[in-house]
Amino acid sequence: MPDYKQFLSELRKFVAHDRIYTDDLRLLAWGTDAGFYRLLPKIVVRSNGEDEVAQILRLAHSMNVPVTFRAAGTSLSGQAITDSVLVVAGKNWEKYSIGQGAETITLQPGIIGARVNEILAPFGKEFAPDPASKNSAMVGGIVINNASGMSCGTHANSDKILRSMRIVLADGTVLDTGDPESRKQPHNSRFYIISNKNISQKPYSSFGTS
Ligand SMILES: Cc1cc2nc3c(=O)[nH]c(=O)nc-3n(C[C@H](O)[C@H](O)[C@H](O)COP(=O)(O)OP(=O)(O)OC[C@H]3O[C@@H](n4cnc5c(N)ncnc54)[C@H](O)[C@@H]3O)c2cc1C
Repeated sequence: MPDYKQFLSELRKFVAHDRIYTDDLRLLAWGTDAGFYRLLPKIVVRSNGEDEVAQILRLAHSMNVPVTFRAAGTSLSGQAITDSVLVVAGKNWEKYSIGQGAETITLQPGIIGARVNEILAPFGKEFAPDPASKNSAMVGGIVINNASGMSCGTHANSDKILRSMRIVLADGTVLDTGDPESRKQPHNSRFYIISNKNISQKPYSSFGTS
């Protein structure tokens, strides 16, 4: 059993205390997603950036503490709950940039799917993955679940439109799959959080496009 008291005390050294939740009410609230399972987390952290997440993961890794990430929590099969540490990457993760000619868009994982469509509308583009939950579901959760939808079928799921990702590994190092230098570095840990995604966008057709 990991030493959660010690983990919490170390966490409080670098994460603002008002973004760490340990009270019963909020642990109960964060203990469900849209599925029918319940797991009560021991600690919930509302993360606010890549460096901080890297630090959290380094600490968790060193203390053998399991970490689960969460975007909007609309998963239906318990993907976004844990009885250990829940790191929320929603608010504070809403930046984006549009590539040349709006052929690509780089998104942080806390942007709601429907909001991506609002951003792309002036360019005549659309975010291809369209789960029915897209008014709540966020880019991080949509991509990790490889969510599908009525229009995108499987041919325009996230895995078909994703160009690259920045991934914070369990040891706190960052792999940017779009950067050849980063790809050359040795990366042995399994991945945890996606902090930016570069997604290609094409005009939407009746079945979506990839
Ligand atoms: C009403 C409703 C309708 C739905 N309709 C569809 C549908 O039409 N098609 C379909 O495919 N699915 C559908 N879904 C399920 C759908 O897969 C989820 O809604 C969506 O993919 C989850 O997004 P989220 O932001 O809520 O992610 P969460 O549930 O918070 O997380 C999803 C997964 O991503 C991981 N994760 C989240 N953020 C990160 C991050 N930054 N880094 C690493 N991992 C991360 C979590 O750990 C979890 O494993 C529906 C769900 C609901 C409730």
